[in-house]
Amino acid sequence: MRFAVLGSGSRGNATLIETDGTRVLLDCGFGLRETERRLADLGVEAASIAAVVVTHEHGDHVGGVARFAACHGAEVWTSPGTWKGAGTPDAARLRLFAGHGSGFRIGALRLRPIPVPHDAREPCQFVIEGEGRRLGVLTDAGTVTARMREALKECDALMLEANHDPQMLRDGPYPVSLQRRVGGAFGHLNNAQAAELLDAVHHRGLRRLVISHISAKNNRPDLALAAVRGVASDLAPELLVAEQNQSTGWLSV
Ligand SMILES: [Zn+2]
Ligand SMILES: [Zn+2]
Repeated sequence: MRFAVLGSGSRGNATLIETDGTRVLLDCGFGLRETERRLADLGVEAASIAAVVVTHEHGDHVGGVARFAACHGAEVWTSPGTWKGAGTPDAARLRLFAGHGSGFRIGALRLRPIPVPHDAREPCQFVIEGEGRRLGVLTDAGTVTARMREALKECDALMLEANHDPQMLRDGPYPVSLQRRVGGAFGHLNNAQAAELLDAVHHRGLRRLVISHISAKNNRPDLALAAVRGVASDLAPELLVAEQNQSTGWLSV
């Protein structure tokens, strides 16, 4: 099983996951040509993607989904709340999953949704399993919950949000209302919250951590890295920060 973060941040998110002949995109917040270009850089034809799974209806996650799916015949998987929140868009191959359900299968991949506190209708993050390996993806959550800690406990690799540094958010360019939204219980995890979550789920089998959804204006990669290194120093060689403008390249799980 392997994955590649095509890009991550408030201007677009998409992650490609592949196992045993099944390829799935988790979110598609980039335009069609940009998504195709980033896939091509990984040696992947867009037409080979079986499905796009949508975490929630914010534009940086769903913006490119409908067009990509229509052009390349991919299924679209979403919770009913996300589908409504996105304005019930047409999709020829729409599949609904229960946000609080036990999960679903796409080809050789099994996906288990994790409900998260975020300001969308029915937002979910995921644990994705294939070939006996497990990838946990957790971005876009305002608070660390017991459910998140439980779900992410035994992952081989993790994508974890470290969105902002609280001081930089306070001193930064966002208006107060937006600062409150981002820093609030239904906004985004800050560096310390990311470290708290990592500390709760860190175990010997966790081989890789990709810090994700980092804010360009309210955080710096070195601050996010320092926060998580404090609780996972043994992960240092396989620790990286996903970027907005380029893919991570293929990463094994
Ligand atoms: Zn987002
Ligand atoms: Zn969001």
